[in-house]
Amino acid sequence: MKHLITDIQRFSLSDGPGIRTTVFFKGCNMHCTWCHNPETLSMDRDLMFYPAKCIGCGRCFSTCENGAHKIENGIHIIDRSLCTKCGKCAEKCYAEALTMSGKEMSVEQIMFEIRQDKAYYDASGGGVTLSGGEVLCHTDFALEIAKACHAEGISVAIETNLSLPYEKIEPFIKEVDLIMADLKIFDEETHKKYTGISNKTIIENIKRISHPKMVIRTPLIEGVTAKEENLRSIAKLLSGKENLLYYQLLNFNPLGDSKYQSLNKTNDFSSLRPYTDEQMKAFGEMLSNTGIKIKVSE
Ligand code: SF4
Ligand code: SF4
Repeated sequence: MKHLITDIQRFSLSDGPGIRTTVFFKGCNMHCTWCHNPETLSMDRDLMFYPAKCIGCGRCFSTCENGAHKIENGIHIIDRSLCTKCGKCAEKCYAEALTMSGKEMSVEQIMFEIRQDKAYYDASGGGVTLSGGEVLCHTDFALEIAKACHAEGISVAIETNLSLPYEKIEPFIKEVDLIMADLKIFDEETHKKYTGISNKTIIENIKRISHPKMVIRTPLIEGVTAKEENLRSIAKLLSGKENLLYYQLLNFNPLGDSKYQSLNKTNDFSSLRPYTDEQMKAFGEMLSNTGIKIKVSE
């Protein structure tokens, strides 16, 4: 069995404890309007185009059998209605102005990447993080990777939105050593507005899952999630949760903007900037009387 993987990042220090290899699955059931990895949202492969890297060699024009590469008003564009995402033009683009997001990989191919850094995981308390997209949309394949990691003594964490019914995800959750789950918005209607789905299942799962250890996270998006009432409501939900390591406030990540452009998609949050260290610290202090452990990311 093979599966679409967006990327495998080695030596990650931001996706859980220690040194980690992060495997990014392709495809997500939520569509957060501020997502900084828009290339992971679709279950399909995606052609990404970075005009600033284009050297005008013309290979993509002669390669594409569908005539999807065009010049309009002197500008190189891709007519995505003609593109079948075959990836042939990206293979010929040596300047890497064209790249395909999503590569079919087997468990063994992924394990080949993962096991190279086993010594670093052992020395740092790290391991593998299965991320997305949304890893729970791919539990059969992810379960195989988790089992293969455990067979080699490698710890497995997941980054997830926990938005699928517990009955569907239980076998996979039981194979995982750490859950890092996002609850972005407590109010159900607002959650639907900004992510496309209800948060009921997420909240049920957060309450229900008592093992393994969990980190609950909220990315701070000005005017949306970064509101005292929202953060206090989430903190209250987490109060008394025995397997909670901490509640983490994540700073906004602005790096998705060029990716939106490369996919010819609109980024509603392109003008938003991360909070300063002082502002992040203030958010943490605001929740200091909630009785739960708060961590604030830079
Ligand atoms: S193949 Fe790449 S570098 Fe050459 S014209 Fe196409 S996009 Fe530009
Ligand atoms: S991915 Fe295939 S169909 Fe799409 S523009 Fe490139 S060569 Fe043409």
